[in-house]
Amino acid sequence: MVSSMESVVAVEGLMKRFRNLTAVDGISFHVQRGEFFGLLGPNGAGKSTTIRALYGFSPPTFGRIRVFGMDVRTHWRSIKGRVGVCHQENTLDPDLTVEENLWIFAGYFGIPFKEATVRTSELLEFFSLSHKRSSRVADLSGGMMRRLILARALINRPELLILDEPTTGLDPQSRHLLWQKLELLKADGLTVVLTTHYMEEAARLCDRLVIMDHGKILVEGAPEVLVTRYAGADVVEIEDPDEALRRYVRENRLEHDDLGDRLLLYVSEGSSLLDVVRTRFCVRKCTWRRSTLEDVFLRLTGRELRE
Ligand code: ADP
Repeated sequence: MVSSMESVVAVEGLMKRFRNLTAVDGISFHVQRGEFFGLLGPNGAGKSTTIRALYGFSPPTFGRIRVFGMDVRTHWRSIKGRVGVCHQENTLDPDLTVEENLWIFAGYFGIPFKEATVRTSELLEFFSLSHKRSSRVADLSGGMMRRLILARALINRPELLILDEPTTGLDPQSRHLLWQKLELLKADGLTVVLTTHYMEEAARLCDRLVIMDHGKILVEGAPEVLVTRYAGADVVEIEDPDEALRRYVRENRLEHDDLGDRLLLYVSEGSSLLDVVRTRFCVRKCTWRRSTLEDVFLRLTGRELRE
């Protein structure tokens, strides 16, 4: 592991308790400069609590968080100006215009107004919002608001961007546009910590990620490495599996999940298993597809609802 001195974010033994509930249970991770790092997990896993601790909003019960080598608890004032944060909640002022929202935010960072107008124009251009600069925020679409929130988080030209579910609730077009913008920012060297419920988003954007559950980190790694390790290369989904298939799977100790009405077989690259299963067991509906991060997520965190 790279020393924490070189990390943009260094979380060590983070524990957060609310009365007798342990929301985050002693997690550690490091994020390097220029990295896109994901925090995944079902509802209640402790992602938001971790993120809030990262930007100094919620002090750890135990453990230490350093950003740019400084302790968040004691040096947040020095760190703040170098970080951009996108909360889940929409904290834009709906009665102000698009550009006024950015100017006001620039003011919080002490950015002179002239400079704020230059940055505002650049950011609105980048996020395809220039034509809306004088519109009231209340009149924007959901996707535009989300882009504006992102633009606002960049007004202080941060080195680290913290994104808490940046695309939740957006339609596919808006989501893809946002991904494109985030990829451009990444190419520019920005370091990003992101939480998301969208596995496609995590797989596309993240260099590395952790999957959390019940306040603990279950696994950490590059998306493609985790997929290969925990879900093979291909998945065969067989509907209404019969006893013969179940026996075959058991006897050959095949990597699988039996969901009752469906059996998922995880097949590694180049396995001859595919042919056997295809010819012998794919009688009724059978789907063949590449393994995904979603397979990994469900295998590690289970399929029970978390509400
Ligand atoms: P996630 O973001 O992964 O859905 P959270 O970090 O929001 O998870 O929550 C983790 C656990 O901590 C949950 O059980 C949640 O109810 C609890 N929790 C979060 N914030 C508070 C709080 N301010 N007070 C009490 N419990 C909280």
